[in-house]
Amino acid sequence: MFGNIFWNVVRFGLAAAFLVLFFYLALAPKTYYTDAVIEGDSMGTFYSIKVSGIPMTVDNRELSRAIQETLDRIDRAMSTYKPDSEVCRFNASDSTDWFPVSPETAAVVSLALDISTLTDGAFDITVAPLVQRWGFGAGADSRSRPPGAEELETVRNTVGFRHLRVHPDSGAIKKDIPELQIDLSAVAKGYAVDQVARTLDTLKIDSYMIDIGGEVRCRGAKMDGSPWRIGIEVPQPDVPGADPNIFMAVELKDVALATSGDYRDFQERDGVRYSHIIDPRTGEPTERTLPGEAVPTERLGSVSILDPSCARADALATAFFVLGEIRGLELAERAGIPALFLSRSTDVSKPIRKAASQTFPR
Ligand code: AMP
Ligand code: MG
Repeated sequence: MFGNIFWNVVRFGLAAAFLVLFFYLALAPKTYYTDAVIEGDSMGTFYSIKVSGIPMTVDNRELSRAIQETLDRIDRAMSTYKPDSEVCRFNASDSTDWFPVSPETAAVVSLALDISTLTDGAFDITVAPLVQRWGFGAGADSRSRPPGAEELETVRNTVGFRHLRVHPDSGAIKKDIPELQIDLSAVAKGYAVDQVARTLDTLKIDSYMIDIGGEVRCRGAKMDGSPWRIGIEVPQPDVPGADPNIFMAVELKDVALATSGDYRDFQERDGVRYSHIIDPRTGEPTERTLPGEAVPTERLGSVSILDPSCARADALATAFFVLGEIRGLELAERAGIPALFLSRSTDVSKPIRKAASQTFPR
C-alpha cells in the first residue's frame, strides 16, 4: 500500500519534470551561437555578415549557403563582368525591342531611374560607356589615353537615362538607342545587402549586421543588448597594413548605411588622378587633378546616406557625390534624406570637414 503511493509520487514527479523540460525547450530562446561571422567574396568585393543568435532550426553551413546563393543569384543577373548576365546580354544587344529580365533586375533598374529623376540625372546607370572609357570596370583599358573632347562627345551621345525604360511588373527593359548600355555597380551592392537581409529574415534571424563592400544594413541589437555601431571612415586612401581611420561611428538599428567616395577606387595615369564616379553632365570623372594644377583647398571625399533600403542608400550616396556638398545638402534637406558629407581640406588644423543634413545623427 505504502509502496504504491511511493511509486505514484515518483511517476507523477517524473511526468512533471518531463513537462517542465518540454516547455522549457519549446519556449526557451532558440539560439545556439553568439556573433557568428560569415565572410566571403562575391560581386567583385568582400562581404562580412555578423549574426547574433541563430535559431536552432538553422545550422551554420545552411546559413552560409543561403547567403552565398543569394549573392550569386544577383551577380548572375547584374554583373558587368559575366558575359551571360542579364546586364551584359542587354548591353551587347543593339535591339530597341523590350528585353526580358528577371523581376529583380527590373526592380533595380526601376529604382535607378527614380533616383535619376530625383537627382536630375546626377545618378545615371547608362554611364557605362563613359565608365569604361575612363578606364574603370569590365573591359576597360586603364592604360589608354583619356578621351579628347570630340571622342567624349561621341561617347556622351550614347548615354542618358531618358533612353532607358522599364516594365517592373512584366520584367522587361528597353533601350531607345542601340548603343545604350547599363552599369548597376552603384546600386547592386546595396540591393544585394537588402536581399541578404530578406534571406536572414526568412530564416527568422532578427539580429544581424550585413556589410557588402562597405554598404551596410543592421537589424536588432547584439546578444548583449548593445546596438550595432558602424564606423564611417576618414576619406583618405588606406595605408597598406593599417586599419582604416574612423571619422565617426553611427548606431544602426533596422536601417542601412551606404558610402560613396573617391578615396579607394581611383586611378592614376601620367600623374593625373581619376575618380571612378562619373559626372553624367560633363561625361568626366568627378575628380581629375592634372599635374601642376593648383590643389583645391577643399575637396569632397565621401558621402554617407542612411535609408531603410540599402539599394536606395547606395544609389543616393553615388548621386550625392556627383551633386557635391551644396546641391546635395539642398536636396537632402528638401527630401528629408539623412546625408553626411566629408571633405578633405589642406587646412592642417582641420583636415576633414563635416557637413550633415538635419536628419543625420549628430
Ligand atoms: P559607388 O561605389 O556605389 O559610388 O558606385 C560607383 C560605380 O558606379 C562606378 O565604379 C561606376 O561603375 C558606376 N558609376 C559611376 N558614375 C556613376 C553615376 N553618375 N551614376 C551611376 N553609376 C555610376
Ligand atoms: Mg552607390
